[in-house]
Amino acid sequence: MSQIDVHQIPVLNDNYVYLARDRASGQTAVVDPAVAQPVLKAAERLGWSISHIFNTHHHGDHVGGNLEIKAATGCTIVGPKADRARIPGIDIEVDEGETAALGEALAEVFFVPGHTRGHIAYWFRESAALFCGDTLFALGCGRLFEGTPSQMWNSLSKLRALPAETRIYCAHEYTQANARFALSVDPGNEALQQRSREIDQARAQLQPTVPSTLGEELATNPFLRADQPSLAANVGLPSGDPVAVFAEVRHRKDIF
Ligand SMILES: [Zn+2]
Repeated sequence: MSQIDVHQIPVLNDNYVYLARDRASGQTAVVDPAVAQPVLKAAERLGWSISHIFNTHHHGDHVGGNLEIKAATGCTIVGPKADRARIPGIDIEVDEGETAALGEALAEVFFVPGHTRGHIAYWFRESAALFCGDTLFALGCGRLFEGTPSQMWNSLSKLRALPAETRIYCAHEYTQANARFALSVDPGNEALQQRSREIDQARAQLQPTVPSTLGEELATNPFLRADQPSLAANVGLPSGDPVAVFAEVRHRKDIF
């Protein structure tokens, strides 16, 4: 298996599109192209040749560039089997337990419904890189547009089990606002307090806070910590029912 290099492209207000290039073959995937032109220009500047699009879910700010990039490059579009009808130009459908090949690099696919009913994530094990769309964010998680708290907790639990060094390539720069909310439900968390200060410093210099590592998220992201007794107590619930705690934290974020 081969490793990938990743290039991050900020687009629209707060989206991140990624170029992932397999070192062995040079094949390059665009992950969740919200738009086409900035992605095509970035690839050209880098000298990377786009061979694939990997979509995590059907929202317009993740597939908006699909057809234009496909027309310009002839690339192959990979996306969630459960959402094939909503992924423009899809060629290859993948589902839980399957792999998506990028040259000699392989992405393992997780089915992670909750934000949408067909959402998937791509994990390049050899490169410790996870492309998780709008499921897991730095200090947050996606809104439950088409799923239940139970589904989302189950989805996040799959991602939570990956190695701590995994880099979390999520699709939005929401971290500073997420930190303010996280502190409201986990105020005594010293790692969170420290991380929040670092985020404020990074954003003051317009630096990205993404990717983080899964280890950082496990220590500080309240949506991954619904099974922690301290977090349950902070939201006024008994510990031992992480789905109920997760649902309460998600609800509080929705109205924060
Ligand atoms: Zn979305």
